[in-house]
Amino acid sequence: MLDQTEALIDLDAIGANTALLASMTSAEVMAVVKADGYGHGLVPSARAALGGGATWLGVATLDEARRLREAGVTAPTLAWLHTSGQDFAGAIAADVDLSASTLGQVAELSAAAQHAGRPARVHLKIDTGLSRNGARPEEWPMLLDAAAKAQADGHAEVVGVWSHLACADVPDAQANADQLAVFVAAVEAAENAGLEVPHRHLANTPGLLAAPETHFTLVRPGIGVYGLSPMPGETYGLIPAMTLRARVALVKRVPAGTGVSYGHTYTTDRETTLALVPLGYGDGVPRAASSIGPVAINGERFTIAGRVCMDQFVVDVGDHDVAEGDTAVLFGPDGPSADDWATATGTINYEIVTRVSPRVPRRYIGGAL
Ligand SMILES: *Cc1c(COP(=O)(O)O)cnc(C)c1O
Repeated sequence: MLDQTEALIDLDAIGANTALLASMTSAEVMAVVKADGYGHGLVPSARAALGGGATWLGVATLDEARRLREAGVTAPTLAWLHTSGQDFAGAIAADVDLSASTLGQVAELSAAAQHAGRPARVHLKIDTGLSRNGARPEEWPMLLDAAAKAQADGHAEVVGVWSHLACADVPDAQANADQLAVFVAAVEAAENAGLEVPHRHLANTPGLLAAPETHFTLVRPGIGVYGLSPMPGETYGLIPAMTLRARVALVKRVPAGTGVSYGHTYTTDRETTLALVPLGYGDGVPRAASSIGPVAINGERFTIAGRVCMDQFVVDVGDHDVAEGDTAVLFGPDGPSADDWATATGTINYEIVTRVSPRVPRRYIGGAL
């Protein structure tokens, strides 16, 4: 039962999306659950994705990996974004795979492995063209040498070579072919350096959906697991897993010419009913949705009237029959979509779901909990 506000998460949708994605490849699936499972909840999302056939989990930070392990999630997990000085020994002891892009990182992981009393499981990252993390191709041979030495010394086990695509949502971009060529050469160089590298991974959701040549042994879908498509206008049969909704806190009848919300950027043009929805930018509703964001109340579509505030916004529902306690759906199966919100506010569906703040209670349905 909806209380005041909630993000309702359909774990069966996450499971089904993962199974659908897994059916599109012969590679293993690493479900990416960083950023609190794109706002859907780290641990429940991870369990649902594993239930759907993922065999790996991917996170950005060591802290995210630690929270999975503390919850008893034991699936192979890769953490890929860290600064120096993190608790790498703890991560190694918790059986978390770690990414390394630099000689300094190989050295730090080797030292941490000695503290942990076991080798670090390392995925070496090559920058094939995104220019974020990863070794530049000219630095790659030195990174391979250092990693091979750490492996020979018993401090590291190089289990992966990996990279990330810049333009996979534009399948015919030249950058995709360029990155693929750099990646294939980097894997070959690793083999020539005597590293076996059982796991080779490059594809995110768009790579998985549209570029089979990027699948290698492991794919890393994130957004698709949550049922959203990275390709505008194509759903691929994915089922959006999050509904964001709230109960109407108050309705009032007002005359024509009534200014609404901060700055009076909206003024009623007739006698009308205003409905107050208790979600605002403190809950992750973009303020950029002021006078633009779509909302469904009792199955009817409306647009936010005036500014989105920190905790609330107002909807002009005209003469529609709306009462206090009725349900306002911002996005979900019974209302607009996260894609509608992304279009309205000039962003991507990834941001719309991920930005839903911790103040909004998550409620879970489905799943083998
Ligand atoms: C976030 C992320 C992914 C998942 O990307 P999607 O587009 O959500 O599928 C995969 N790999 C890395 C390195 C990432 O940072």
